[in-house]
Amino acid sequence: MIKFENISVTYGNHVAVEDVSFDVQDGGLYAIIGPNGAGKSTLLKAIIGILPLTKGAINIDPAIAAHMAYLPQQSNIDRSFPISVFDTVAMGLWQEIGPFQNYPPDATDRVHQALNEVGMSSYINRPIGTLSGGQFQRVLFARMSLQNADLILLDEPFNNLDEPTIEDLTNIIMKWNKAGKTILTVLHDLDIVRDCFPQAALLARHLVAFGSTEDVLTVDNIRTSYRLARQWGGINQHV
Ligand code: ADP
Ligand code: MG
Repeated sequence: MIKFENISVTYGNHVAVEDVSFDVQDGGLYAIIGPNGAGKSTLLKAIIGILPLTKGAINIDPAIAAHMAYLPQQSNIDRSFPISVFDTVAMGLWQEIGPFQNYPPDATDRVHQALNEVGMSSYINRPIGTLSGGQFQRVLFARMSLQNADLILLDEPFNNLDEPTIEDLTNIIMKWNKAGKTILTVLHDLDIVRDCFPQAALLARHLVAFGSTEDVLTVDNIRTSYRLARQWGGINQHV
């Protein structure tokens, strides 16, 4: 589904990702892990095409490239913007109908259903500014459900969330995957990676390891990622 061929991404002189190659299979559930500054967010941004590659190529089915869902790290949406939960979730329909078009007649039902899935349907008319961080993340997951993309990219979706929310959102990710979606998720919590993600990519600018999570998460591989992180001063950060 996605082929990374020797890709490098740099910001000015700073190399963020170097010579990374791996293949993502259709329907896979992948965790992307690595120390802070390892290039994980950069890799996702390169997939969605908002960052140019310095070297190499990302080969991705054009039909899929045209219809991906991406949740950035620490969602950049300005929550003081006076928009309701309904409108936030309904934006998930934009790829289907085009932005600023009228919603289709079944939009309300579909938004309700998506909010139900994340336990937030009673909040449908609330301004998003009144939600807790966890509730807002649930709403963003509802929006992703509505987007119905074949490829879903999530950048640290569980940061600063409470345990019940993490558990619920993990279950939703697994449900999406069971429905056939291909999912790449940047994560810090290695227990969640071990329990729920069959495949993993360990990044430290270079790709340290890739494959089944069990094979990737070895002491040796983690040590190697720390050793590489020391070279850019990321060693004090957790993997
Ligand atoms: P991760 O998500 O693994 O923590 P990032 O992909 O965000 O890492 O960043 C990789 C490296 O690139 C880091 O050293 C970071 O400081 C640097 N970097 C990220 N974004 C920018 C940017 N817009 N301009 C310059 N350097 C950047
Ligand atoms: Mg990041």
